[in-house]
Amino acid sequence: MSVSNNLSEIRNSLPENVTLVAVSKTKPNELLMEAYEAGQRVFGENKVQEMVAKWQDLPKDIEWHMIGHLQRNKVKYMAEFVSLIHGVDSLKLLKEIDKRAKACGRIIDCLLQMHIAEEDTKFGLDKDELQLLVNSDEFKSMKNIRIKGLMGMATFTDNEDQVRREFASLRAIYEDLKGKLPNIDTLSMGMSGDYAIAIDQGSNMVRIGSSIFGERNY
Ligand SMILES: *Cc1c(COP(=O)(O)O)cnc(C)c1O
Repeated sequence: MSVSNNLSEIRNSLPENVTLVAVSKTKPNELLMEAYEAGQRVFGENKVQEMVAKWQDLPKDIEWHMIGHLQRNKVKYMAEFVSLIHGVDSLKLLKEIDKRAKACGRIIDCLLQMHIAEEDTKFGLDKDELQLLVNSDEFKSMKNIRIKGLMGMATFTDNEDQVRREFASLRAIYEDLKGKLPNIDTLSMGMSGDYAIAIDQGSNMVRIGSSIFGERNY
């Protein structure tokens, strides 16, 4: 199967309100260009250096999403171009993004990453930490970040009920957060193995890598 065939198959299966982030981490520019030529404009990367290199080499109308765990000292390298940061899981990181965005004269869109998986290997905030963050004076004073919604990853398991339960819990947190931040509109959940369940549970942004570009060899 080719990248463009995979892409059109996936696109045909997505409801219209769902944004597809093509996760291109570890993949060479030629494969990204195949997706680009098939009309894809939103790409996700999980390493800042790799994303910067691809941004420099590839067409400038690509929207780059940082989907990985992000270290504060790396924010400056992508502040001028990143279009959405999915993995924000602390006030400290948010402050750094705000500072770097301000230096570039930008407002950077961010998603707060929630810990929803029962396994404890995944990053993210719990509900209490989310409340503390959005209620803090520091959060309210930041002018150069915009919270667009939430992101989360389910446990990597064949147990579909568990995955469904975890996505449902993120959806509930998202609906609740709308009371506080009425302008949020993005719920990023679902990857190659579980995006159908995620969409069922209210996702409107899916991050799909291997089903488009093939398995990754690290
Ligand atoms: C790699 C990655 C994906 C895509 O995973 P696939 O299983 O290849 O679709 C999605 N989200 C995050 C945060 C990732 O790191």
